[in-house]
Amino acid sequence: MTIGDIPKLGAFRKPGKEYVVPYLPVGSVVGDREIAAVTRVLRSGETLSGGGRREEFERNFRDYVGAPYAMSTTSGTVTLELAIHLLGLRPGDEVIVTPQTYQASIQPLLQYPDVEVTFCDVRQDTLNMDPRCLERLIGPRTRAVILVHYGGHPADMHEIMDIARAHDALVIEDSAHALGSVYHGARPGALADIGCFSFHSSKNITTLGEGGMLTFADPEWAERVDRLRGNEVDGSFLPRRHTFGDSKENLPGGLYPGNAYTHDLVALRKHGTNATLPEAAAAMGTSQLRALPGMVERRRAIAARLRETLGRFPGLVEAPEAPEGVIHSQHLFTFFVREGTHGINRHRLLHELDHRGVQVPLRYFPLHLLPEWRARGHRYGECPTAERVWFHEQVNLPCHPALSVRQVDLLCDRLEESLRAACTH
Ligand SMILES: *Cc1c(COP(=O)(O)O)cnc(C)c1O
Repeated sequence: MTIGDIPKLGAFRKPGKEYVVPYLPVGSVVGDREIAAVTRVLRSGETLSGGGRREEFERNFRDYVGAPYAMSTTSGTVTLELAIHLLGLRPGDEVIVTPQTYQASIQPLLQYPDVEVTFCDVRQDTLNMDPRCLERLIGPRTRAVILVHYGGHPADMHEIMDIARAHDALVIEDSAHALGSVYHGARPGALADIGCFSFHSSKNITTLGEGGMLTFADPEWAERVDRLRGNEVDGSFLPRRHTFGDSKENLPGGLYPGNAYTHDLVALRKHGTNATLPEAAAAMGTSQLRALPGMVERRRAIAARLRETLGRFPGLVEAPEAPEGVIHSQHLFTFFVREGTHGINRHRLLHELDHRGVQVPLRYFPLHLLPEWRARGHRYGECPTAERVWFHEQVNLPCHPALSVRQVDLLCDRLEESLRAACTH
């Protein structure tokens, strides 16, 4: 197949249009507690960066997720960059990834031209990495697997970890959707080697609109992340033992400056960055973490209403539920109009929903078909399920706690009307 064979979708999202049920103004509810927490930091007269609030948020997050370490950064994208850096990839290594995620999950791999990236197809019901496909693809060169818990539905971690461990491959969980989810008694972020979270405004909790968190168990990684995210600065302001290049002896007075930043310049140029989560953002994070169970409950209640509405169209649409022992955070609500199930036309349905003021963007364009991945040789046809579902079958509905009760009622009514209008007989 060639680029020209990729099916085309008509425009169903009109720019500038007002929606009665918008997709994502903000994902989480920002209440008085958050405002008070942020204001307290601003009025404290204390430092606004690198103080105690960040550590407090990290402790709370670590305890919530159940991972030995939680280290904050400024975005989900930065956590993924750091996580991929920790893998220590070498030329010739292979990383197996899912095509059905936000591009930031794998974008840092573009900086490793000598690492082979293999896309593993997804399950058609959860859109998570399909363990059977992973089993077929994994091999002696596979250094790591990067997966997402799509929409908050935990991936099949028991199967995936067994396969990965048998091949000595590390596993990164992109848990940007899965804060609040549970997988057989444990939480995403503590199910594999590294967890990556995002606190972007649209996610299950937010830290002033942007933020991220890494979770893992390795104490050596904790030291490395601390240096990498802190500009490789030795925060103690004490002289380092190692030399500052040859110039050390030539400094005035022959002294190495003690009360000064003592960067490891070589390391800094290579990897270090500044990704310090500000104090006010961390304070908001702690406050949001307390509100998280209630917000996830609200997401799940909205999802239950949507499932009830979809249940009136048996055989025409599918809205699979999480199995026993698995809790879905419902960061996204996705259902399917199967291709070949004559009865409802998906394309028509998207237009009907849009026409009735329900905003329905498709998540996520199969990543292997993005220009930068096609430039690395990836092609339409590589992940048939991910492709079929995106181009023909999936529908995403608004599902977040910022929706009012009236908006949820409207959403269910308009969904039902749209489904009837999109019926082909
Ligand atoms: C949002 C998101 C990211 C990126 O997080 P940012 O905080 O926006 O940088 C990565 N992966 C997934 C699956 C996401 O949804």
